Order: sequence, then C-alpha cells, then structure tokens
Amino acid sequence: MIEYRDYYADGRWLPATGGTQLTQYNPTSELAQSLLTVCSAADVAVAVSAARRCAPGWARSPLDERRRALRALQGAIAERADAFVKVLATELGVPVWVSRTMQLPMPLTNLERIIEGVDQITWREQIGNAAVEREPVGVIAAITPWNFPLHQIIAKLGGAIGAGCPAVLKPSEVAPSVARLFMEAVAEADLPPGLVNMVWGGADVGERLVASPGVDQVTFTGSTAVGRRIMGSAAASLTRVVLELGGKSASLILDDADLDAAIPATVRRCMVNSGQTCVAQSRLLVPRSRQAEVVQRVVAALAEWTPGDPTHADTRIGPVATRSQFGFVNQQIRQAKADGAALIAGGPGRAAGFDRGFFVTPTVFSDVTARMALATDEVFGPVLAVMPYDAEDDGIALANDTPYGLSGAVWSANPARAEAAARQIRAGQVIVNGAPSNYGAPFGGFGQSGFGRENGRFSIEAFLEWKSMPGVTWTS
Ligand code: NAD
Repeated sequence: MIEYRDYYADGRWLPATGGTQLTQYNPTSELAQSLLTVCSAADVAVAVSAARRCAPGWARSPLDERRRALRALQGAIAERADAFVKVLATELGVPVWVSRTMQLPMPLTNLERIIEGVDQITWREQIGNAAVEREPVGVIAAITPWNFPLHQIIAKLGGAIGAGCPAVLKPSEVAPSVARLFMEAVAEADLPPGLVNMVWGGADVGERLVASPGVDQVTFTGSTAVGRRIMGSAAASLTRVVLELGGKSASLILDDADLDAAIPATVRRCMVNSGQTCVAQSRLLVPRSRQAEVVQRVVAALAEWTPGDPTHADTRIGPVATRSQFGFVNQQIRQAKADGAALIAGGPGRAAGFDRGFFVTPTVFSDVTARMALATDEVFGPVLAVMPYDAEDDGIALANDTPYGLSGAVWSANPARAEAAARQIRAGQVIVNGAPSNYGAPFGGFGQSGFGRENGRFSIEAFLEWKSMPGVTWTS
C-alpha cells in the first residue's frame, strides 16, 4: 500500500494534518492501492498563503522566465512518461495504449501551445488616451477530476504560470499517484517557491479552497453538479470562476457521409478511455433510412473494443475507474433497456472473461429517443446511443436537444454542408469529418457544460484581467 501523507506548499513537502485518510482502489484487482491523508483547514491556509506570497513577484516576472518555467515543467513531465503510464493503468485502469496516444501527448502538446501562447497575448496596447494592460488575476485555485488527470492539471496550471499567477491545486482524490508524480515534476522543475502548491482531499477540501479569502479565481473541471455548487459558494465573495463541466456530445451523420470513416471514428470517440471523456460522442445521430446499415457497422467497429487488462500493450479498453462509476454505468444501461431502447451489443454486468474488476462491456442501443435518460444524461462509460432522425434540420435540432454544449461532430462528403451544420450546433467545439484535436484552439462549453476556455493561449487568457489607464501612454 502506498501512503501519501505530505502536501506541497512554498516549494516543500509538509505533513498533512487533516486526520482522516482516503483509500484508492486498483480498478482491475479491486484491491486497495493507496492511502491519502487529507489536508486540514490550516494546511489549505498554508498553501494559499504560500501562493499569495509568490503572487506579486510572479506577476512581474518577465515572459522569458515564464516560458522557461513552463519548458522545465514540460521536460520534467516528459522524463516521467513511463511512470505516468504505469500509474494511470494501476490507479485508473487506463490502457497503456491510451496513455501513450492521449493521456501523455495531450498535456505535453498543450504545454507547447501554452508556451507559444505566451507570445500570442497582446499584453499591452494603446486605446486612444488609455494604456491598456493584461494583468494576472492573482491566486488561482485549480480543482481537477480524474479522467484525464494530467491533462486537466496542465490546462489549468500551465495557463496560470503563463499568465503570471501562482496556484493551489486540489487534484482528484481518485488519482493521487498521478498528482504526486506531477508534483515531483514540479519540484524538479525548480519553480519559484509558492508558484505551484497542492493540497490533498475530496469535496470538503475543495469547498475550503473555494471559500478561501486568499483565492482570486477558481478554475474547475468536473461534473455539472459540483460546478453548480462551486459557483454558488464563489458567489459569496464574487470570486471569479471558470467551469469546464460535463457533456452529452452528438456525432451527426449527414446522409452523404462516408460511413467507413464516420462510424469507427464515432465509436472510438465514445469508447476510448472507457467512455470516461467529457467530450465522448455518446449520441450517434443517423438518417432513419440508414440506421440499420449504421448499426451493423457499429457492431463491426466494436470488435476493436474488447475489454482487457490495461497493463497489456494491445488492450484498447480497460475497466472504468471506480466501483461507484461501475454501478452508475450499469444502472444507466438497465434504465435504457427499461425505457425501451433496442440493445444491440453489450449489456449490464461485468464484461465476459473477468471475475473481478470494474469492466463494463461496450454497449450500444439503437432507436434511442430524445426523452430517454440515455439521450439526456451523461453516462461517463462505454455506452453509445444510436438515434435516428428524418430531415437534416431534425438532426441538427436533435444534436442541440441537450442542456450541455461541450463538443460534437459532423460528417458529410460535402465540406460546405458539413460546415453549415457545424455552425448550427450549439457547442464549444464541433469536429468536422474526424479532424484531429487542436490544442491551440479554445476548448470549453456552452450551457451546462460550463464557461471559460482552455488550451494554448486560452489557458492563459482565462487568468488575465483587463486594466485601463487613461492619461498614460506606453513608451515601450
Ligand atoms: P467531480 O465533479 O465529482 O469532481 C471533480 C473535482 O471536484 C474533484 O477533485 C473533487 O474532489 C472536487 N469536488 C467534489 N465536490 C466538491 C465541492 N463540493 N467543492 C469543491 N470541489 C469538489 O467530477 P469527477 O467525477 O472527478 O469527473 C467526472 C466529471 O468531470 C464528468 O462530469 C465529466 O464530464 C467532467 N469533465 C469535464 C471536462 C471538461 O473539460 N469540460 C473534462 C473532464 C471531465
């Protein structure tokens, strides 16, 4: 059993004094794997004070120094790539292949885009008689989830460092080994004391951090329910918030789409990381006349997604991360059956071939209608809803028939048609014809998927204030 007893503040490890411990389980073996000592209110105050002390100096730091800090952090993370791959598999059940192709490349590429972003910000401009400046907001509280734990930490802390802001991280209690490894990279990168601090704990510690008078802005990635609570408590002090929340993204297949490309790509974007991605394309919207053909292709594409041991090199899909997630996903599958959706593949229970572990069989339903829970609720598991539509406008309306608005996809052989449909979808990101991810472009949600944007220069912009000084003219 690994024990994590120390939190990180002011460039040092300090013993956490919260008194209680949280246990984390290996999702493949279901055995307890690590114990985490929770931080007390006093520990949170120590971490926030360290960040506050660092704030004025880092706000004035030259851009060269910020780029150097980000580059050092990137190097220290890259050096630990093998260790991250290992803990992502044992702690969260992430297959080695997913870590090598997504969990590691995403934050490393994003750091590259953030470093470039430092030069893309217009830090100063003259607007008539006013010298206008982008100023760092101050101390950032970053609260992150477990599904892409390193990526979400970097999207926030990379931006904070680039913006000139110190931060206190409260990583997910579900992924402590990833957070610990990240903080070892921070320690090695030799950043100024207090620039990056980290406290351990769950909801209580998160709430304390949000309510801390020393915090100027909260940046949160996680569920919509928790996002709502955070916004509520931040309102008391008018602390700024950025919220990256859940999703129920649609892949809209127009009637001229290349199904050979569209179907395997949508299945992949639904199933990868065991469906535990906020941008999971969990609704596949198809012309009613092509539903039968699509369903056949979906079943064929599932062959690639047979659950396996996440530590094996050829495994594409492992278990879901926690017992509660396993229970929730199964409950959603049972509910979809009860609601009358047609079960095409998979189903509830533990995947075949396993007598333990949180392995869900990749599951597909067709004939899912707009008011079924499977069409409206985020499952956060490997479950795809195939939903038929009639005219193209109906397909677009169905894509938008969700309180969320994080991501989506459009497929058409005609680029102009695809673009026109993409522009009508209410989401922060709409991927056309399977284009690869772009970490320089803004990422974030509409509606109940939250607000604010991350990645590249947008991760920096998230932590900048505007300041205007009429009567001043910039001389340099
Ligand atoms: P979660 O909301 O349960 O927890 C996220 C973080 O918030 C954790 O660190 C947790 O300890 C903390 N927390 C919980 N209650 C809190 C409270 N009351 N006050 C302050 N902090 C609190 O989410 P999760 O289960 O870790 O992650 C899954 C969710 O995250 C899904 O809904 C998913 O869609 C969403 N997500 C969104 C994005 C995005 O970029 N939009 C990315 C990844 C995941």
